[in-house]
Amino acid sequence: MINKKMFINGEWVDSLSKEVREIINPYNQEVIAKVSEGTAQDAKLAILAARKAFDNGDWATIPAYERGNMVNKIADLIERDKAELAKLESLDTGKTLIESKADMEDIIGVFRYFAGLADKDGGEIIESPIPNSKSRVVREPVGVCGQISPWNYPLLQASWKIAPALTAGNTIVIKPSEITPLTTVKVTELIEEVGFPKGVVNLVLGPGATVGNELAVSNDVDLISFTGGIETGKKIMQAASNNVKKIALELGGKNPNIVFADCDFETAVDQALNAVFFHAGQVCSAGARLLVEETIHDKFVEAILERAKRIKLGNGFDEDTQSGPLISAEHRAKVEKYIEIGKAEGANLVLGGKRPEDPELQNGFFYLPTIFIDCKSDMRIVQEEVFGPVLTVERFSSEEEVIQLANDTIYGLAGAVWTNDSRKAERVVSKLRIGTVWINDFHPYFAQAPWGGYKQSGLGRELGKTGLEEYTETKHIFENIAPQPLYWFK
Ligand code: NAD
Repeated sequence: MINKKMFINGEWVDSLSKEVREIINPYNQEVIAKVSEGTAQDAKLAILAARKAFDNGDWATIPAYERGNMVNKIADLIERDKAELAKLESLDTGKTLIESKADMEDIIGVFRYFAGLADKDGGEIIESPIPNSKSRVVREPVGVCGQISPWNYPLLQASWKIAPALTAGNTIVIKPSEITPLTTVKVTELIEEVGFPKGVVNLVLGPGATVGNELAVSNDVDLISFTGGIETGKKIMQAASNNVKKIALELGGKNPNIVFADCDFETAVDQALNAVFFHAGQVCSAGARLLVEETIHDKFVEAILERAKRIKLGNGFDEDTQSGPLISAEHRAKVEKYIEIGKAEGANLVLGGKRPEDPELQNGFFYLPTIFIDCKSDMRIVQEEVFGPVLTVERFSSEEEVIQLANDTIYGLAGAVWTNDSRKAERVVSKLRIGTVWINDFHPYFAQAPWGGYKQSGLGRELGKTGLEEYTETKHIFENIAPQPLYWFK
């Protein structure tokens, strides 16, 4: 049995309450680990440690190049232990091992990318309009960063926060989702091995409403970065207003996947499946909302159905498994509630809509790939994020109509356009109110490009140069090189 604690001020500690939480494998509900169940008081201690480590100035003022080297060493150790990390991620989330292995490669890339940026921004000289003066702009760390991550890509989402924050010279308190903490704990062990100064990196575990809330509300935290659901995001925004801390929010999506009749049919069908059923649909950028041009609609739906019904559910450690379970009983209940809503709204259920009957899958939180056709834009099943293997299909017959439909949700995270007419693609893309648009592809993201949402999908950007800038304050330094009295006041 794996037993894990929290990491506060350079020490592995139990929760002050001494309580522990059992971590469950969603494939079979077996207990895979016991971890400390932190409290708000534990979070306060972690924040205090991060505050002291920031305020003593040792970390923020070491040369940026050195900080980059240390962040790069985290990547080296993840590379060394990636097989173990991938296994832990699959045990904790139920996702296939092949997906977890790919996640680890992405995570290594994230640490290396930010490490490489550490010493690339030496500030900017400003052409001052005032005679005999020099003006420049420098970037400095924000301070103590609270970081809260979700359960769907536990370590990947944490890496998008940890790597830029440390590169920029901040100190951090990270809180992974209480149901999937294991890989974040393991990486904290690796961070300890690299040898960051005491208090620079702190890990707290436990529920969002207590431990997470303390990070959002505390006057000693300068920035809160959150990835998770929209309702939680709103609570965090409110709590953060306490001391007007900086906020970064990566929230949900209801992402349109737009298929024009002049697309490459076979590829668009294939990728429409990946778009929505990858990781059982538990992906913020899932293409859960398929918009198909009227003239190919029936043929397209038929082709998708044919393949979706063959998706092999199972143990993520079996090589022939294509999709694992949902994360928890609670989450499956939420997905099931949406299926009932969809049916009641008159959407036409043509696949799935129930749990699998396979006896081998009865202990896991499995749900069959599900497709609704004849959907209308005002249905809740089309508007709200289900975060499961559920596809809604709508028809359209013009560019104007599909742009209007695609933009008609509160979200604006990601989406795709499939067409072989590049001018049409550009026209449509320019009108979509979303943060990432793919043309003739779905899902690519990488450390070099910014990630984040328009509208209620979030605030700010992770990854890319912007992802580093979010963890910096901008300071303008003005120097008068020939100071004289002004005699304004005679
Ligand atoms: P969630 O909002 O339930 O929880 C996310 C994290 O917030 C967890 O660590 C949780 O403990 C914590 N939390 C919960 N209540 C809190 C509170 N009151 N104060 C502070 N922290 C609190 O989300 P989830 O179910 O873990 O993740 C799924 C959601 O995350 C989906 O909506 C998905 O779209 C979104 N997501 C977005 C992105 C993105 O890049 N935009 C990426 C991954 C996931």
